[in-house]
Amino acid sequence: MIDAHTFRLDGQLALITGSSAGIGLGLARGLAQAGAAIVLNGRHADKLQQAATQLRNEGFTIHERCFDVTDDEAVKSNIDAIERDLGAIDILINNAGIQRRAPLQDFDHQDWHDLMQTNLNSVFYVAQAVAKHMIERKQGRIINICSVQSEMGRPGISPYMASKGALKMLTKGMAIDWGPLGLNVNGIGPGYFKTELNDKLVNDPTFSQWLINRTPSRRWGDVEELAGAAVFLSSRAASFVNGHILYVDGGVTAQL
Ligand code: NAP
Repeated sequence: MIDAHTFRLDGQLALITGSSAGIGLGLARGLAQAGAAIVLNGRHADKLQQAATQLRNEGFTIHERCFDVTDDEAVKSNIDAIERDLGAIDILINNAGIQRRAPLQDFDHQDWHDLMQTNLNSVFYVAQAVAKHMIERKQGRIINICSVQSEMGRPGISPYMASKGALKMLTKGMAIDWGPLGLNVNGIGPGYFKTELNDKLVNDPTFSQWLINRTPSRRWGDVEELAGAAVFLSSRAASFVNGHILYVDGGVTAQL
Protein backbone atom coordinates (compact mmCIF):
# COMPACT_ATOMS: atom_id res chain seq x y z
CA MET A 1 0.00 0.00 0.00
CA ILE A 2 1.28 3.44 -0.90
CA ASP A 3 0.95 5.98 1.90
CA ALA A 4 2.73 9.09 3.18
CA HIS A 5 5.55 6.95 4.62
CA THR A 6 6.33 4.88 1.53
CA PHE A 7 9.10 7.21 0.36
CA ARG A 8 10.23 8.40 3.83
CA LEU A 9 13.63 7.49 5.28
CA ASP A 10 13.07 8.60 8.89
CA GLY A 11 15.31 6.83 11.42
CA GLN A 12 17.72 5.62 8.73
CA LEU A 13 21.43 6.36 8.41
CA ALA A 14 22.91 6.97 4.95
CA LEU A 15 26.60 7.11 4.05
CA ILE A 16 27.27 9.00 0.82
CA THR A 17 30.85 8.95 -0.46
CA GLY A 18 32.22 12.09 -2.11
CA SER A 19 29.43 14.22 -0.68
CA SER A 20 31.25 17.46 0.18
CA ALA A 21 30.32 18.92 -3.25
CA GLY A 22 28.40 18.39 -6.48
CA ILE A 23 26.08 15.45 -6.96
CA GLY A 24 26.97 13.82 -3.62
CA LEU A 25 26.01 16.96 -1.71
CA GLY A 26 22.74 17.18 -3.68
CA LEU A 27 21.95 13.54 -2.86
CA ALA A 28 22.77 14.16 0.81
CA ARG A 29 20.30 17.06 0.93
CA GLY A 30 17.60 14.97 -0.81
CA LEU A 31 17.95 11.97 1.51
CA ALA A 32 18.02 14.31 4.54
CA GLN A 33 14.82 15.99 3.31
CA ALA A 34 13.27 12.50 3.22
CA GLY A 35 14.21 12.05 6.89
CA ALA A 36 17.57 10.19 6.86
CA ALA A 37 20.56 11.11 9.01
CA ILE A 38 23.58 11.55 6.75
CA VAL A 39 27.27 10.70 6.94
CA LEU A 40 29.09 13.06 4.58
CA ASN A 41 32.47 11.99 3.18
CA GLY A 42 35.34 13.54 1.25
CA ARG A 43 39.14 13.84 1.38
CA HIS A 44 39.38 17.47 2.47
CA ALA A 45 38.24 18.25 6.02
CA ASP A 46 37.64 21.98 5.43
CA LYS A 47 35.43 21.38 2.37
CA LEU A 48 33.59 18.62 4.25
CA GLN A 49 33.00 20.85 7.26
CA GLN A 50 31.61 23.64 5.06
CA ALA A 51 29.15 21.25 3.42
CA ALA A 52 28.14 19.80 6.80
CA THR A 53 27.55 23.28 8.27
CA GLN A 54 25.43 24.23 5.25
CA LEU A 55 23.18 21.16 5.68
CA ARG A 56 23.02 21.49 9.49
CA ASN A 57 21.87 25.09 9.05
CA GLU A 58 19.03 23.70 6.92
CA GLY A 59 18.00 21.63 9.97
CA PHE A 60 19.34 18.18 9.06
CA THR A 61 21.24 15.57 11.10
CA ILE A 62 24.71 15.45 9.55
CA HIS A 63 27.86 13.54 10.51
CA GLU A 64 31.26 13.89 8.81
CA ARG A 65 33.86 11.23 8.04
CA CYS A 66 36.97 12.43 6.25
CA PHE A 67 38.70 9.58 4.39
CA ASP A 68 39.92 8.64 0.94
CA VAL A 69 37.73 5.90 -0.54
CA THR A 70 40.69 4.57 -2.55
CA ASP A 71 42.51 3.67 0.69
CA ASP A 72 41.28 0.16 1.49
CA GLU A 73 42.49 0.20 5.11
CA ALA A 74 41.02 3.66 5.80
CA VAL A 75 37.72 2.47 4.31
CA LYS A 76 37.54 -0.60 6.58
CA SER A 77 38.40 1.30 9.76
CA ASN A 78 36.02 4.18 8.99
CA ILE A 79 33.10 1.90 8.14
CA ASP A 80 33.60 -0.07 11.36
CA ALA A 81 33.86 3.20 13.31
CA ILE A 82 30.62 4.54 11.77
CA GLU A 83 28.77 1.31 12.61
CA ARG A 84 30.16 1.38 16.17
CA ASP A 85 29.74 5.10 16.93
CA LEU A 86 26.78 6.23 14.84
CA GLY A 87 24.81 3.01 14.27
CA ALA A 88 23.86 0.75 11.39
CA ILE A 89 24.44 2.07 7.87
CA ASP A 90 21.04 1.46 6.25
CA ILE A 91 21.84 3.15 2.93
CA LEU A 92 25.18 3.44 1.11
CA ILE A 93 25.60 5.64 -1.95
CA ASN A 94 28.91 5.11 -3.75
CA ASN A 95 29.22 8.48 -5.43
CA ALA A 96 32.89 9.58 -5.23
CA GLY A 97 34.33 9.74 -8.73
CA ILE A 98 36.77 11.63 -10.92
CA GLN A 99 37.19 12.48 -14.59
CA ARG A 100 40.39 12.74 -16.68
CA ARG A 101 40.32 13.73 -20.37
CA ALA A 102 42.89 13.04 -23.11
CA PRO A 103 43.05 11.19 -26.43
CA LEU A 104 43.57 7.50 -25.69
CA GLN A 105 46.93 7.36 -27.53
CA ASP A 106 48.31 10.02 -25.15
CA PHE A 107 46.46 8.97 -22.00
CA ASP A 108 48.73 9.09 -18.97
CA HIS A 109 49.06 5.72 -17.21
CA GLN A 110 48.85 7.24 -13.74
CA ASP A 111 45.59 8.97 -14.75
CA TRP A 112 44.26 5.58 -15.92
CA HIS A 113 45.10 4.01 -12.54
CA ASP A 114 43.66 6.97 -10.60
CA LEU A 115 40.38 6.72 -12.55
CA MET A 116 40.04 2.98 -12.00
CA GLN A 117 41.04 3.26 -8.36
CA THR A 118 38.47 6.01 -7.63
CA ASN A 119 35.57 5.13 -9.92
CA LEU A 120 35.68 1.32 -9.66
CA ASN A 121 38.02 -0.18 -7.04
CA SER A 122 36.81 2.13 -4.27
CA VAL A 123 33.21 1.06 -4.87
CA PHE A 124 34.26 -2.54 -4.29
CA TYR A 125 36.20 -1.58 -1.12
CA VAL A 126 33.41 0.53 0.41
CA ALA A 127 30.51 -1.71 -0.65
CA GLN A 128 32.22 -4.86 0.63
CA ALA A 129 33.02 -3.25 4.00
CA VAL A 130 29.44 -2.00 4.41
CA ALA A 131 27.77 -5.12 2.98
CA LYS A 132 29.40 -7.30 5.66
CA HIS A 133 27.35 -5.41 8.27
CA MET A 134 24.21 -5.27 6.10
CA ILE A 135 24.36 -9.01 5.44
CA GLU A 136 24.38 -9.70 9.21
CA ARG A 137 21.16 -7.65 9.42
CA LYS A 138 19.75 -9.26 6.23
CA GLN A 139 18.88 -5.83 4.83
CA GLY A 140 20.44 -2.74 3.28
CA ARG A 141 20.34 -0.50 0.25
CA ILE A 142 23.36 0.25 -1.94
CA ILE A 143 23.27 2.72 -4.83
CA ASN A 144 26.24 3.08 -7.17
CA ILE A 145 26.53 6.31 -9.13
CA CYS A 146 27.18 5.16 -12.69
CA SER A 147 26.85 7.47 -15.73
CA VAL A 148 25.35 7.75 -19.19
CA GLN A 149 28.92 6.77 -20.05
CA SER A 150 28.17 3.34 -18.60
CA GLU A 151 26.34 2.91 -21.93
CA MET A 152 27.60 5.48 -24.43
CA GLY A 153 30.89 7.14 -25.31
CA ARG A 154 32.52 10.43 -26.24
CA PRO A 155 36.00 11.21 -27.59
CA GLY A 156 38.82 11.58 -25.05
CA ILE A 157 37.18 9.79 -22.12
CA SER A 158 37.62 6.07 -22.90
CA PRO A 159 39.11 5.24 -19.46
CA TYR A 160 36.18 6.98 -17.70
CA MET A 161 33.78 5.03 -19.96
CA ALA A 162 35.61 1.80 -19.08
CA SER A 163 35.37 2.55 -15.35
CA LYS A 164 31.66 3.42 -15.49
CA GLY A 165 30.83 0.51 -17.81
CA ALA A 166 32.52 -1.83 -15.34
CA LEU A 167 30.68 -0.17 -12.46
CA LYS A 168 27.36 -0.95 -14.15
CA MET A 169 28.26 -4.65 -14.27
CA LEU A 170 29.68 -4.57 -10.71
CA THR A 171 26.30 -3.17 -9.61
CA LYS A 172 24.50 -6.11 -11.24
CA GLY A 173 27.04 -8.53 -9.71
CA MET A 174 26.43 -7.09 -6.24
CA ALA A 175 22.67 -7.51 -6.72
CA ILE A 176 23.19 -11.13 -7.83
CA ASP A 177 25.48 -12.07 -4.91
CA TRP A 178 23.87 -9.97 -2.18
CA GLY A 179 20.20 -9.99 -3.25
CA PRO A 180 19.70 -13.50 -1.78
CA LEU A 181 21.22 -12.16 1.46
CA GLY A 182 18.60 -9.41 1.78
CA LEU A 183 20.27 -6.45 0.06
CA ASN A 184 19.02 -4.26 -2.79
CA VAL A 185 21.80 -2.91 -5.02
CA ASN A 186 21.01 -0.51 -7.84
CA GLY A 187 22.69 2.20 -9.88
CA ILE A 188 21.83 5.73 -10.95
CA GLY A 189 23.16 6.91 -14.31
CA PRO A 190 23.30 10.71 -14.35
CA GLY A 191 23.39 12.59 -17.64
CA TYR A 192 25.22 15.93 -17.69
CA PHE A 193 25.11 18.07 -14.52
CA LYS A 194 26.91 21.36 -13.84
CA THR A 195 29.48 20.36 -11.20
CA GLU A 196 33.22 20.93 -10.68
CA LEU A 197 33.89 17.62 -12.46
CA ASN A 198 32.38 19.14 -15.62
CA ASP A 199 33.88 22.66 -15.29
CA LYS A 200 35.67 22.41 -18.64
CA LEU A 201 32.49 21.38 -20.46
CA VAL A 202 30.29 23.95 -18.72
CA ASN A 203 32.71 26.70 -19.76
CA ASP A 204 32.82 25.51 -23.38
CA PRO A 205 29.86 27.15 -25.23
CA THR A 206 30.27 24.84 -28.25
CA PHE A 207 29.97 21.73 -26.06
CA SER A 208 27.13 23.22 -24.03
CA GLN A 209 25.12 24.03 -27.17
CA TRP A 210 25.82 20.56 -28.59
CA LEU A 211 24.63 18.98 -25.33
CA ILE A 212 21.45 21.05 -25.14
CA ASN A 213 20.55 20.13 -28.75
CA ARG A 214 21.43 16.48 -28.06
CA THR A 215 19.26 16.23 -24.90
CA PRO A 216 15.51 15.71 -25.38
CA SER A 217 14.85 17.88 -22.27
CA ARG A 218 16.99 20.60 -23.97
CA ARG A 219 19.11 21.56 -20.94
CA TRP A 220 21.76 20.55 -18.42
CA GLY A 221 20.54 18.72 -15.30
CA ASP A 222 20.33 20.28 -11.85
CA VAL A 223 21.91 18.10 -9.11
CA GLU A 224 18.69 18.40 -7.07
CA GLU A 225 16.98 16.43 -9.86
CA LEU A 226 18.93 13.29 -8.95
CA ALA A 227 17.60 13.18 -5.40
CA GLY A 228 14.18 11.73 -6.27
CA ALA A 229 15.76 8.66 -7.87
CA ALA A 230 18.05 8.14 -4.86
CA VAL A 231 15.20 8.53 -2.36
CA PHE A 232 13.05 6.10 -4.37
CA LEU A 233 15.82 3.46 -4.56
CA SER A 234 16.49 3.87 -0.81
CA SER A 235 12.84 3.64 0.18
CA ARG A 236 10.23 0.96 0.83
CA ALA A 237 8.78 1.81 -2.61
CA ALA A 238 11.80 0.09 -4.25
CA SER A 239 11.74 -3.10 -2.14
CA PHE A 240 11.65 -5.34 -5.26
CA VAL A 241 13.97 -3.23 -7.43
CA ASN A 242 17.36 -4.95 -7.59
CA GLY A 243 20.24 -4.79 -10.09
CA HIS A 244 18.64 -1.93 -12.01
CA ILE A 245 20.38 1.15 -13.45
CA LEU A 246 18.07 4.18 -13.40
CA TYR A 247 19.20 6.80 -15.92
CA VAL A 248 18.41 10.40 -14.94
CA ASP A 249 19.60 12.13 -18.06
CA GLY A 250 16.86 14.23 -19.69
CA GLY A 251 16.50 11.48 -22.29
CA VAL A 252 20.12 11.43 -23.57
CA THR A 253 20.28 7.63 -23.63
CA ALA A 254 16.97 7.43 -25.52
CA GLN A 255 18.27 9.18 -28.63
CA LEU A 256 21.01 8.46 -31.18
P1 NAP B 1 32.62 16.63 -8.13
O1 NAP B 1 31.79 17.85 -8.22
O2 NAP B 1 34.04 16.68 -8.62
O3 NAP B 1 32.59 16.11 -6.61
C1 NAP B 1 33.29 14.96 -6.26
C2 NAP B 1 33.16 14.69 -4.76
O4 NAP B 1 33.87 13.49 -4.47
C3 NAP B 1 33.78 15.78 -3.91
O5 NAP B 1 33.04 15.88 -2.71
C4 NAP B 1 35.18 15.23 -3.64
O6 NAP B 1 35.70 15.81 -2.44
C5 NAP B 1 34.86 13.73 -3.49
N1 NAP B 1 35.96 12.80 -3.79
C6 NAP B 1 36.70 12.72 -4.92
N2 NAP B 1 37.62 11.74 -4.79
C7 NAP B 1 37.43 11.18 -3.56
C8 NAP B 1 38.06 10.13 -2.85
N3 NAP B 1 39.09 9.45 -3.38
N4 NAP B 1 37.62 9.83 -1.61
C9 NAP B 1 36.57 10.51 -1.05
N5 NAP B 1 35.95 11.51 -1.67
C10 NAP B 1 36.37 11.85 -2.92
O7 NAP B 1 31.95 15.42 -8.94
P2 NAP B 1 30.40 15.20 -9.37
O8 NAP B 1 30.21 15.79 -10.70
O9 NAP B 1 29.50 15.59 -8.26
O10 NAP B 1 30.38 13.62 -9.58
C11 NAP B 1 29.93 12.73 -8.58
C12 NAP B 1 29.74 11.35 -9.18
O11 NAP B 1 28.78 11.42 -10.24
C13 NAP B 1 31.01 10.76 -9.83
O12 NAP B 1 31.04 9.38 -9.61
C14 NAP B 1 30.82 11.06 -11.31
O13 NAP B 1 31.53 10.17 -12.13
C15 NAP B 1 29.32 10.87 -11.43
N6 NAP B 1 28.71 11.54 -12.57
C16 NAP B 1 28.75 12.89 -12.69
C17 NAP B 1 28.14 13.50 -13.78
C18 NAP B 1 28.07 14.99 -13.91
O14 NAP B 1 27.48 15.46 -14.90
N7 NAP B 1 28.62 15.78 -13.03
C19 NAP B 1 27.51 12.71 -14.76
C20 NAP B 1 27.53 11.32 -14.62
C21 NAP B 1 28.11 10.75 -13.53
P3 NAP B 1 37.30 15.87 -2.15
O15 NAP B 1 37.94 16.40 -3.39
O16 NAP B 1 37.43 16.77 -0.97
O17 NAP B 1 37.68 14.47 -1.83
